[in-house]
Amino acid sequence: MKITRIETFLLKAPLGEERFWSSQASFPERKSLLVRIDTDAGLSGWGEAGQYGPAEPVASQIHDVFAPMLLGEEARQPAVHWDLMYSRTRDFGAKGSTIEAISGLDIALWDLIGRFHEAPIWELLGGAFRRTVETYATGLYYRGPDPTDLAAGLTQLREEAARYREEGFSAVKAKIGLLPPRDDLERIAAIREAIGDDILLLADANHAYNTHVACTVARELERFRIYWFEEPVVPEDLEGYRRVRASTTIAIAGGECEHTRYGFVRWFAAHALDIAQPDPTAAGGFTELARICAAASAFHVQCLPHVWGSGVALAAGLQLLATIPPAPYTASPRAPYTEPLLEWDANPNPLRTEVLEEPIVPREGKVQVPDGPGLGIRIDERAVARYTVAQRCSE
Ligand code: CA
Repeated sequence: MKITRIETFLLKAPLGEERFWSSQASFPERKSLLVRIDTDAGLSGWGEAGQYGPAEPVASQIHDVFAPMLLGEEARQPAVHWDLMYSRTRDFGAKGSTIEAISGLDIALWDLIGRFHEAPIWELLGGAFRRTVETYATGLYYRGPDPTDLAAGLTQLREEAARYREEGFSAVKAKIGLLPPRDDLERIAAIREAIGDDILLLADANHAYNTHVACTVARELERFRIYWFEEPVVPEDLEGYRRVRASTTIAIAGGECEHTRYGFVRWFAAHALDIAQPDPTAAGGFTELARICAAASAFHVQCLPHVWGSGVALAAGLQLLATIPPAPYTASPRAPYTEPLLEWDANPNPLRTEVLEEPIVPREGKVQVPDGPGLGIRIDERAVARYTVAQRCSE
């Protein structure tokens, strides 16, 4: 099964008044870079290359750097292609958009071999530990015309948090780090009050703090029974991570900005994390995520992949999550203490549902792992065309 064509689709969906903010940036639109690989067997595979920044450099690497390596080659060997792509770009790649490009191609290749063998990716990776996955709602961002307006934010957060409780989520994640810590703690207090005591609450600073501020915030967060504190400090500061982790009983999570096993193993060796969050579309696709999860388990770090993007990225995260062993094994598996949780981005994003013919949607906070071949999804190509603002093709 030879690779005959590689196509990328940059999808954009403007959010208008639904735009939202994290501590780092505003989200005026949702965007995704989808990858399709066609073969001489008539089968096609889909992937998504996560871009935390502009998608154009990622698309450029797919077409200008990697397509010449892949076109005409056998598709049924993603790990071989991964190693060649990584090794031939080591001198200028190894991180960032290069690995995002490799990730999108790797996911599409795994989707292809799943379709070739008529098996889901979880089966090709050794089997599913679970066929139903618990999700947590990632929401509770800064919204409205003035995202720094504390009073307006509190009203909006109470409504949003109550909605997640009614929808049956057992865990929700809130943003912190845009406002001064005292104001952010008021926001967390409002959310805790709205969701009650039984729902897990997670806090994500998107690396907004210095170590000493992060330690203070962690101590204050303990009052609200925060389960994990995500990206407290910048990802370069592993010593800062270690110090925050030593200062608190809250689990420390991070790694969505890290790439490959070479990047993650430094965090593990530094004892920087309780929970590692590699993103399948950014840290290296299925080939590399399986290795990162293996390395995490050797250091007794829980692996809960970061999931952000269209329905394709969500499907990839779901396939991977099915294959992650309980950590540790018990006779009574329970998320998130032993079982992994799937990140469910609850923010507005038409690309999450519309590009899939059967959208993946949580019911009572849970989603089913699909049985179908590859990623287990069917792409609605008319929806892809509707949102595509730039398209490139290599053949
Ligand atoms: Ca995050």
